[in-house]
Amino acid sequence: MSTPLLVARGLHTWFEVRRWGFFRVGFVRAVDGVDFSLAKGEAVAFVGESGCGKSSLARTLLGLHLPTDGDVSFDGQDMRNLSKAELHAYRAKVGYVQQDPYGALPPFMDVRRILTEPLIVHGVKDAAERDRRIREVLEEVRLSPADDFLPKFPHQLSGGQQQRVVIARALILEPEMIIADEPVSMLDASVRVEILNLLRNIQINRGLSLAFITHDLSTVRHYAERIFVMYAGRIVETAPVEELLDHPQHPYTQALLAAIADPDPDNADHQRDVPVGEAPSLLNPPAGCRFHPRCPQAMGGLCDVELPPDFEPRPGHLSACWLHREQE
Ligand code: SF4
Repeated sequence: MSTPLLVARGLHTWFEVRRWGFFRVGFVRAVDGVDFSLAKGEAVAFVGESGCGKSSLARTLLGLHLPTDGDVSFDGQDMRNLSKAELHAYRAKVGYVQQDPYGALPPFMDVRRILTEPLIVHGVKDAAERDRRIREVLEEVRLSPADDFLPKFPHQLSGGQQQRVVIARALILEPEMIIADEPVSMLDASVRVEILNLLRNIQINRGLSLAFITHDLSTVRHYAERIFVMYAGRIVETAPVEELLDHPQHPYTQALLAAIADPDPDNADHQRDVPVGEAPSLLNPPAGCRFHPRCPQAMGGLCDVELPPDFEPRPGHLSACWLHREQE
């Protein structure tokens, strides 16, 4: 693999839960022992049901949540001990594309102001230089001609156009990496592919790293090179995208894929990518393999007791499941 840009080892992000603001009830283990690396110029997807910890992971990588434990480094720099100035500089290197474009954009700012603010905050003092960069990035996200969009406020734009502005804002500081958290889940189906194609093309053209967070396994084939499947705060399966989609090894991934492929028209109105049963509470996750209460292949006395390590059932393909124990 080429040079890693982002490396996480044993990453934990827990949130303390208190009742009546006084009694500590416990911790929500949103990210609970995650290891991965992301190469320069690589696009990866973190996939899982809502509540599996993927958005908390994204916010930890953005420096918005402090890790409770573990190591995370960006371009060789340890992120746990960044000074305020270093954190400020880091945030310019990582662009963020949020799920809800309307909520992400300040309603009382026009597009010019939305794109000018980060440039001013990060010290681009020359107004002509700011104007040049804003026009370039609007062209890049296909909001053209720029003069038509610069005076518009978010409510005057369609959902797809709003998300293009969010992407433009994420790019304006020329980051090395983009984190896109469910970037199309709140958009009309008609514009989802356009936005995903736009993100992927920008990532390739600029040579950026991209961490794409989604609950929808069916969208990742064309937009990522590797997939990390998350369940209850942990990564349970990792492989290159074609390998994982064509040869899923973990029972949770197999259930996700089987549900997507469900051709029954009676199920058309249901969420089709969720396996039977409910995702566990991150306040009190099950012992052993966290998927065992929902797993049709769970082995009593093992899966409900011991957390499975990563096995490599196929070359370059990791799966945290006891079923692979004999195959190694
Ligand atoms: Fe199922 Fe056991 Fe594998 Fe977990 S470790 S996915 S419970 S078979």
